[in-house]
Amino acid sequence: MQFRIGNGYDIHRLVPGRALILGGQPLEHPDGLGLDGHSDADVLVHAIMDALLGALSLGDIGKYFPPDDPQWKGADSLELLEQVVALVMERGWSVVNIDSVVVAERPKLKPHIEAMRSAIASRMGLEPEQVGVKATTNERLGAEGREEGISCHAVALLQQP
Ligand code: MG
Repeated sequence: MQFRIGNGYDIHRLVPGRALILGGQPLEHPDGLGLDGHSDADVLVHAIMDALLGALSLGDIGKYFPPDDPQWKGADSLELLEQVVALVMERGWSVVNIDSVVVAERPKLKPHIEAMRSAIASRMGLEPEQVGVKATTNERLGAEGREEGISCHAVALLQQP
């Protein structure tokens, strides 16, 4: 049995006039802010995709879904995640588990964590138990603390029989 581990990181700006989508769930920010980006800017799903690609040294999501390609404008990141999982499986690997932490001051993510885990797991062909999603504030420090953006760190463990 072979194992590979990968890590992923992403950050997107919080701006007015955009939707706030995390783990495929549309959320409400108290000031009406959302995440800026070419796709739906789902920073959690982006970090997970980079962890999966990183585990197999396949590069990053910018290589597969370039932000200057109109094809990915407004893209549903969960659909992109499905494509990344397909890439991993084509190479004979399967996902053991994912873990992640979203860094956001607001809104409170706790009520949405289970829905995010379920949505991500079902698109990946996994059980929710295999998908860890955690949330933390940044104690009002730095860019996330000033609510200039939301970031996410993720790791993925893959196995090959
Ligand atoms: Mg991104």
